[in-house]
Amino acid sequence: MLYTLKIRLYPSPEQSDQLLRTMARFNDACNVIGKIAFENKTFSKTMLQRLCYYQIRNQFKLSSQMVVRAIAKVCESYSAKNKRDKLHTFKPHGAIVYDDRILTIKSIDTVSVLSLNGRIFIPMSVCEYHARILNHVLKVRGQTDLGYIDGKFYLFLVAELPDKPENIREVFLGVDLGIAKIATTSDGKFYSGSKVKNLRKRNFKLRQKLQAKGTKSAKRLLKRRRRKESRFATDVNHCISKRLVEVAKGTQRAIVLEDLKGIRERAKKGARKTVCKTMRQALSSWSFYQLRQFIEYKARAAGVLVIYVDPRNTSRTCSKCGHVDKKSRRDQEHFVCTACEHALNADINAALNIARRGAEVIQPNAVA
Ligand SMILES: [Zn+2]
Repeated sequence: MLYTLKIRLYPSPEQSDQLLRTMARFNDACNVIGKIAFENKTFSKTMLQRLCYYQIRNQFKLSSQMVVRAIAKVCESYSAKNKRDKLHTFKPHGAIVYDDRILTIKSIDTVSVLSLNGRIFIPMSVCEYHARILNHVLKVRGQTDLGYIDGKFYLFLVAELPDKPENIREVFLGVDLGIAKIATTSDGKFYSGSKVKNLRKRNFKLRQKLQAKGTKSAKRLLKRRRRKESRFATDVNHCISKRLVEVAKGTQRAIVLEDLKGIRERAKKGARKTVCKTMRQALSSWSFYQLRQFIEYKARAAGVLVIYVDPRNTSRTCSKCGHVDKKSRRDQEHFVCTACEHALNADINAALNIARRGAEVIQPNAVA
Protein backbone atom coordinates (compact mmCIF):
# COMPACT_ATOMS: atom_id res chain seq x y z
CA MET A 1 0.00 0.00 0.00
CA LEU A 2 1.36 3.40 -0.96
CA TYR A 3 1.03 6.36 1.34
CA THR A 4 1.86 9.95 0.69
CA LEU A 5 2.81 11.80 3.83
CA LYS A 6 2.27 15.52 3.74
CA ILE A 7 4.87 17.12 5.96
CA ARG A 8 5.05 20.81 6.75
CA LEU A 9 8.46 22.45 6.49
CA TYR A 10 9.56 25.41 8.57
CA PRO A 11 12.33 27.15 6.65
CA SER A 12 13.87 30.36 7.95
CA PRO A 13 13.01 33.46 5.88
CA GLU A 14 16.37 33.11 4.17
CA GLN A 15 15.83 29.42 3.42
CA SER A 16 12.32 30.17 2.23
CA ASP A 17 13.76 32.65 -0.25
CA GLN A 18 16.32 30.08 -1.40
CA LEU A 19 13.65 27.46 -1.91
CA LEU A 20 11.44 29.79 -3.91
CA ARG A 21 14.32 30.84 -6.14
CA THR A 22 15.26 27.18 -6.65
CA MET A 23 11.68 26.35 -7.57
CA ALA A 24 11.46 29.26 -9.99
CA ARG A 25 14.71 28.29 -11.70
CA PHE A 26 13.72 24.62 -11.81
CA ASN A 27 10.36 25.42 -13.42
CA ASP A 28 11.94 27.88 -15.86
CA ALA A 29 14.11 24.99 -16.96
CA CYS A 30 11.01 22.79 -17.25
CA ASN A 31 9.42 25.38 -19.54
CA VAL A 32 12.41 25.37 -21.88
CA ILE A 33 12.61 21.57 -21.81
CA GLY A 34 8.87 21.39 -22.46
CA LYS A 35 9.27 23.57 -25.51
CA ILE A 36 12.10 21.43 -26.84
CA ALA A 37 10.08 18.27 -26.21
CA PHE A 38 7.02 19.68 -27.93
CA GLU A 39 8.85 21.08 -30.94
CA ASN A 40 10.81 17.87 -31.49
CA LYS A 41 7.90 15.58 -30.56
CA THR A 42 10.31 13.89 -28.21
CA PHE A 43 8.78 12.71 -24.97
CA SER A 44 11.03 9.94 -23.75
CA LYS A 45 13.39 10.66 -20.89
CA THR A 46 16.53 9.28 -22.49
CA MET A 47 15.88 11.00 -25.82
CA LEU A 48 15.20 14.32 -24.15
CA GLN A 49 18.31 14.04 -22.02
CA ARG A 50 20.37 13.45 -25.14
CA LEU A 51 18.70 16.41 -26.80
CA CYS A 52 18.95 19.09 -24.13
CA TYR A 53 20.85 18.03 -21.00
CA TYR A 54 23.96 20.17 -21.63
CA GLN A 55 22.03 23.12 -22.92
CA ILE A 56 19.84 23.20 -19.80
CA ARG A 57 22.77 22.74 -17.45
CA ASN A 58 24.64 25.63 -18.97
CA GLN A 59 21.66 27.88 -19.37
CA PHE A 60 20.23 27.46 -15.85
CA LYS A 61 23.32 26.49 -13.85
CA LEU A 62 21.46 23.64 -12.21
CA SER A 63 23.11 20.58 -10.72
CA SER A 64 23.09 17.56 -12.98
CA GLN A 65 20.61 15.70 -10.81
CA MET A 66 18.32 18.71 -10.83
CA VAL A 67 18.40 18.78 -14.64
CA VAL A 68 17.54 15.09 -14.74
CA ARG A 69 14.60 15.73 -12.39
CA ALA A 70 13.38 18.65 -14.52
CA ILE A 71 13.45 16.46 -17.63
CA ALA A 72 11.58 13.78 -15.68
CA LYS A 73 8.93 16.30 -14.65
CA VAL A 74 8.37 17.34 -18.25
CA CYS A 75 8.17 13.73 -19.42
CA GLU A 76 5.67 12.94 -16.73
CA SER A 77 3.56 15.89 -17.78
CA TYR A 78 3.59 14.60 -21.36
CA SER A 79 3.12 10.97 -20.39
CA ALA A 80 -0.51 10.90 -21.51
CA LYS A 81 -0.41 10.50 -25.29
CA ASN A 82 -3.61 12.45 -25.86
CA LYS A 83 -2.12 15.51 -24.18
CA ARG A 84 0.80 15.88 -26.53
CA ASP A 85 -0.92 18.19 -28.99
CA LYS A 86 -0.18 21.37 -27.10
CA LEU A 87 2.70 23.03 -25.31
CA HIS A 88 2.81 22.35 -21.55
CA THR A 89 3.90 25.16 -19.28
CA PHE A 90 5.02 25.08 -15.67
CA LYS A 91 4.21 27.58 -12.94
CA PRO A 92 7.17 29.29 -11.25
CA HIS A 93 6.33 27.76 -7.88
CA GLY A 94 5.25 24.37 -9.13
CA ALA A 95 6.54 21.36 -7.26
CA ILE A 96 10.10 20.15 -7.54
CA VAL A 97 10.30 16.40 -7.75
CA TYR A 98 13.25 15.29 -5.69
CA ASP A 99 14.83 11.90 -5.40
CA ASP A 100 17.00 10.54 -2.62
CA ARG A 101 20.18 11.90 -4.19
CA ILE A 102 19.12 15.51 -3.72
CA LEU A 103 16.75 15.24 -0.79
CA THR A 104 17.47 13.32 2.37
CA ILE A 105 15.47 12.94 5.54
CA LYS A 106 18.26 13.49 8.03
CA SER A 107 16.24 12.75 11.11
CA ILE A 108 12.67 12.88 12.22
CA ASP A 109 12.80 16.67 12.33
CA THR A 110 15.25 17.71 9.62
CA VAL A 111 15.36 17.36 5.89
CA SER A 112 18.31 18.16 3.67
CA VAL A 113 17.28 19.68 0.35
CA LEU A 114 19.40 20.72 -2.58
CA SER A 115 18.90 24.39 -3.50
CA LEU A 116 20.71 26.76 -5.86
CA ASN A 117 23.01 27.51 -2.94
CA GLY A 118 23.82 23.89 -2.26
CA ARG A 119 22.27 21.72 0.41
CA ILE A 120 20.18 23.38 3.08
CA PHE A 121 18.86 21.79 6.24
CA ILE A 122 15.25 22.64 6.94
CA PRO A 123 13.30 21.91 10.12
CA MET A 124 10.13 19.92 9.64
CA SER A 125 7.27 18.93 11.83
CA VAL A 126 6.12 15.35 11.95
CA CYS A 127 3.44 14.02 14.22
CA GLU A 128 3.94 10.80 16.09
CA TYR A 129 2.17 8.46 13.75
CA HIS A 130 3.86 9.96 10.71
CA ALA A 131 7.12 9.54 12.54
CA ARG A 132 6.43 5.86 12.79
CA ILE A 133 5.90 5.62 9.08
CA LEU A 134 8.92 7.85 8.46
CA ASN A 135 11.13 5.50 10.42
CA HIS A 136 10.19 2.98 7.84
CA VAL A 137 10.76 5.37 4.96
CA LEU A 138 14.20 6.38 6.21
CA LYS A 139 15.26 2.96 5.03
CA VAL A 140 13.12 2.75 1.91
CA ARG A 141 13.40 6.25 0.44
CA GLY A 142 11.81 7.24 -2.79
CA GLN A 143 10.48 10.13 -4.80
CA THR A 144 9.51 13.22 -2.85
CA ASP A 145 7.78 16.36 -4.05
CA LEU A 146 8.56 19.75 -2.62
CA GLY A 147 5.42 21.84 -2.93
CA TYR A 148 4.56 25.46 -2.16
CA ILE A 149 0.91 25.90 -1.24
CA ASP A 150 -0.68 29.08 0.08
CA GLY A 151 2.63 30.42 1.27
CA LYS A 152 3.71 27.23 3.03
CA PHE A 153 6.21 24.58 2.07
CA TYR A 154 5.33 20.89 2.19
CA LEU A 155 7.04 17.65 1.40
CA PHE A 156 4.91 14.98 -0.21
CA LEU A 157 6.71 11.84 0.62
CA VAL A 158 5.74 8.53 -0.86
CA ALA A 159 6.14 5.58 1.45
CA GLU A 160 5.30 2.01 0.88
CA LEU A 161 3.83 0.07 3.75
CA PRO A 162 3.03 -3.61 3.86
CA ASP A 163 -0.52 -4.38 2.84
CA LYS A 164 -1.43 -6.90 5.49
CA PRO A 165 -4.05 -6.03 8.09
CA GLU A 166 -1.65 -7.15 10.82
CA ASN A 167 0.65 -4.35 9.86
CA ILE A 168 -2.10 -1.81 9.61
CA ARG A 169 -2.92 -2.70 13.16
CA GLU A 170 0.63 -1.78 14.08
CA VAL A 171 0.10 1.78 12.91
CA PHE A 172 -3.58 2.40 13.63
CA LEU A 173 -5.80 1.60 16.56
CA GLY A 174 -9.33 1.26 15.21
CA VAL A 175 -12.02 1.91 17.81
CA ASP A 176 -15.64 0.92 17.34
CA LEU A 177 -17.95 2.68 19.76
CA GLY A 178 -21.23 1.09 20.65
CA ILE A 179 -23.89 0.74 23.27
CA ALA A 180 -23.50 -2.78 24.61
CA LYS A 181 -19.74 -2.72 24.52
CA ILE A 182 -18.81 0.88 24.90
CA ALA A 183 -15.60 0.45 22.92
CA THR A 184 -14.02 -2.35 20.91
CA THR A 185 -10.53 -2.00 19.45
CA SER A 186 -8.87 -3.53 16.42
CA ASP A 187 -6.61 -5.30 18.95
CA GLY A 188 -9.67 -7.34 19.87
CA LYS A 189 -10.17 -5.74 23.30
CA PHE A 190 -13.56 -4.81 24.71
CA TYR A 191 -14.21 -1.93 27.02
CA SER A 192 -17.53 -2.77 28.52
CA GLY A 193 -20.21 -0.52 29.79
CA SER A 194 -22.28 -3.20 31.44
CA LYS A 195 -22.03 -1.51 34.82
CA VAL A 196 -23.38 1.72 33.41
CA LYS A 197 -26.16 -0.14 31.67
CA ASN A 198 -27.19 -1.99 34.79
CA LEU A 199 -27.20 1.13 36.87
CA ARG A 200 -29.29 2.84 34.26
CA LYS A 201 -31.77 0.00 34.17
CA ARG A 202 -32.06 0.01 37.96
CA ASN A 203 -32.52 3.75 38.01
CA PHE A 204 -35.11 3.57 35.28
CA LYS A 205 -37.26 1.19 37.30
CA LEU A 206 -36.80 3.25 40.43
CA ARG A 207 -37.69 6.38 38.54
CA GLN A 208 -40.95 4.90 37.36
CA LYS A 209 -41.83 3.96 40.90
CA LEU A 210 -40.93 7.34 42.33
CA GLN A 211 -42.64 9.24 39.57
CA ALA A 212 -45.80 7.29 40.31
CA LYS A 213 -45.49 8.42 43.91
CA GLY A 214 -44.99 12.04 42.95
CA THR A 215 -44.15 13.30 46.46
CA LYS A 216 -41.59 15.98 47.15
CA SER A 217 -39.11 13.61 48.76
CA ALA A 218 -39.51 11.20 45.86
CA LYS A 219 -38.60 13.97 43.44
CA ARG A 220 -35.55 14.82 45.49
CA LEU A 221 -34.40 11.24 45.51
CA LEU A 222 -35.01 11.05 41.79
CA LYS A 223 -32.80 14.05 41.15
CA ARG A 224 -30.01 12.63 43.28
CA ARG A 225 -30.23 9.32 41.46
CA ARG A 226 -30.03 10.94 38.07
CA ARG A 227 -26.96 12.89 39.11
CA LYS A 228 -25.31 9.77 40.40
CA GLU A 229 -26.02 8.02 37.13
CA SER A 230 -24.45 10.74 35.03
CA ARG A 231 -21.47 10.99 37.38
CA PHE A 232 -20.96 7.28 37.03
CA ALA A 233 -21.17 7.41 33.22
CA THR A 234 -18.66 10.24 33.22
CA ASP A 235 -16.30 8.17 35.36
CA VAL A 236 -16.58 5.24 32.99
CA ASN A 237 -15.95 7.51 30.01
CA HIS A 238 -12.89 8.93 31.72
CA CYS A 239 -11.52 5.45 32.38
CA ILE A 240 -12.16 4.12 28.90
CA SER A 241 -10.83 7.18 27.07
CA LYS A 242 -7.76 7.26 29.30
CA ARG A 243 -7.06 3.59 28.64
CA LEU A 244 -7.52 3.90 24.88
CA VAL A 245 -5.17 6.87 24.67
CA GLU A 246 -2.60 5.07 26.82
CA VAL A 247 -2.72 2.04 24.54
CA ALA A 248 -2.35 4.21 21.42
CA LYS A 249 0.48 6.24 22.90
CA GLY A 250 2.31 3.22 24.28
CA THR A 251 2.31 1.59 20.87
CA GLN A 252 2.79 4.85 18.93
CA ARG A 253 -0.42 4.49 17.02
CA ALA A 254 -3.09 6.86 15.82
CA ILE A 255 -6.62 6.34 17.09
CA VAL A 256 -9.17 5.88 14.33
CA LEU A 257 -12.83 6.69 15.01
CA GLU A 258 -15.88 6.78 12.83
CA ASP A 259 -16.78 10.24 11.66
CA LEU A 260 -20.29 10.61 12.92
CA LYS A 261 -20.70 14.21 11.89
CA GLY A 262 -21.56 13.11 8.39
CA ILE A 263 -24.03 10.57 9.68
CA ARG A 264 -25.72 13.07 11.89
CA GLU A 265 -26.14 15.43 8.99
CA ARG A 266 -27.48 12.68 6.79
CA ALA A 267 -29.86 11.68 9.54
CA LYS A 268 -31.07 15.27 9.82
CA LYS A 269 -31.70 15.53 6.14
CA GLY A 270 -34.26 12.81 6.48
CA ALA A 271 -32.22 9.99 5.02
CA ARG A 272 -33.08 7.98 8.09
CA LYS A 273 -32.89 4.66 6.33
CA THR A 274 -29.13 4.83 6.10
CA VAL A 275 -28.80 5.24 9.85
CA CYS A 276 -29.47 2.13 11.81
CA LYS A 277 -31.43 2.20 15.02
CA THR A 278 -28.56 1.60 17.40
CA MET A 279 -26.57 4.33 15.70
CA ARG A 280 -29.43 6.78 16.19
CA GLN A 281 -29.61 5.85 19.82
CA ALA A 282 -25.88 6.23 20.15
CA LEU A 283 -25.95 9.64 18.54
CA SER A 284 -28.65 10.86 20.84
CA SER A 285 -26.85 9.52 23.87
CA TRP A 286 -25.04 12.22 25.70
CA SER A 287 -22.50 9.91 27.32
CA PHE A 288 -21.52 8.52 23.94
CA TYR A 289 -20.81 12.01 22.69
CA GLN A 290 -18.91 12.72 25.89
CA LEU A 291 -16.71 9.65 25.39
CA ARG A 292 -15.68 10.88 21.96
CA GLN A 293 -14.89 14.30 23.42
CA PHE A 294 -12.80 12.71 26.17
CA ILE A 295 -10.85 10.58 23.70
CA GLU A 296 -10.21 13.63 21.59
CA TYR A 297 -8.88 15.91 24.28
CA LYS A 298 -6.87 13.24 26.06
CA ALA A 299 -5.33 12.20 22.77
CA ARG A 300 -4.43 15.78 21.97
CA ALA A 301 -2.81 16.22 25.36
CA ALA A 302 -0.81 13.03 24.87
CA GLY A 303 0.25 13.85 21.31
CA VAL A 304 -1.77 11.00 19.87
CA LEU A 305 -3.42 11.65 16.57
CA VAL A 306 -7.14 10.99 16.12
CA ILE A 307 -8.29 10.23 12.59
CA TYR A 308 -11.93 10.21 11.55
CA VAL A 309 -13.12 7.90 8.83
CA ASP A 310 -16.23 7.30 6.76
CA PRO A 311 -18.50 5.10 8.88
CA ARG A 312 -20.48 3.62 6.02
CA ASN A 313 -20.63 -0.19 5.98
CA THR A 314 -17.96 -0.67 8.64
CA SER A 315 -20.14 -3.33 10.24
CA ARG A 316 -21.12 -4.99 6.95
CA THR A 317 -17.65 -5.26 5.43
CA CYS A 318 -15.47 -8.33 5.88
CA SER A 319 -12.20 -7.23 7.48
CA LYS A 320 -10.43 -10.09 5.74
CA CYS A 321 -11.60 -10.00 2.11
CA GLY A 322 -13.44 -6.66 1.91
CA HIS A 323 -16.72 -8.19 0.77
CA VAL A 324 -19.73 -6.03 1.70
CA ASP A 325 -22.94 -7.79 2.60
CA LYS A 326 -25.62 -6.98 5.14
CA LYS A 327 -26.16 -10.71 5.68
CA SER A 328 -22.60 -11.22 6.86
CA ARG A 329 -23.55 -9.66 10.14
CA ARG A 330 -25.52 -12.55 11.58
CA ASP A 331 -26.60 -10.78 14.75
CA GLN A 332 -25.39 -8.18 17.22
CA GLU A 333 -22.37 -10.29 18.07
CA HIS A 334 -21.46 -12.52 15.15
CA PHE A 335 -19.94 -11.71 11.81
CA VAL A 336 -19.58 -14.48 9.22
CA CYS A 337 -18.51 -13.33 5.77
CA THR A 338 -20.89 -14.59 3.07
CA ALA A 339 -18.01 -14.62 0.57
CA CYS A 340 -14.99 -16.06 2.38
CA GLU A 341 -16.64 -17.48 5.51
CA HIS A 342 -14.26 -15.59 7.76
CA ALA A 343 -15.92 -15.54 11.17
CA LEU A 344 -15.25 -13.27 14.11
CA ASN A 345 -16.88 -10.99 16.63
CA ALA A 346 -18.91 -8.33 14.82
CA ASP A 347 -17.51 -5.41 16.82
CA ILE A 348 -13.90 -6.51 16.35
CA ASN A 349 -14.59 -6.86 12.63
CA ALA A 350 -15.90 -3.28 12.57
CA ALA A 351 -12.92 -2.01 14.56
CA LEU A 352 -10.55 -3.67 12.07
CA ASN A 353 -12.35 -2.00 9.17
CA ILE A 354 -12.11 1.33 10.96
CA ALA A 355 -8.35 0.85 11.45
CA ARG A 356 -7.94 0.04 7.77
CA ARG A 357 -9.83 3.15 6.75
CA GLY A 358 -7.50 5.16 8.92
CA ALA A 359 -4.73 3.97 6.64
CA GLU A 360 -6.66 5.12 3.61
CA VAL A 361 -7.18 8.57 5.07
CA ILE A 362 -3.51 9.42 4.99
CA GLN A 363 -3.47 8.72 1.33
CA PRO A 364 -3.46 11.91 -0.63
CA ASN A 365 -6.04 13.45 -2.82
CA ALA A 366 -4.30 16.75 -3.18
CA VAL A 367 -1.00 15.63 -4.65
CA ALA A 368 -0.54 16.77 -8.22
ZN1 LIG B 1 -14.70 -12.25 3.64
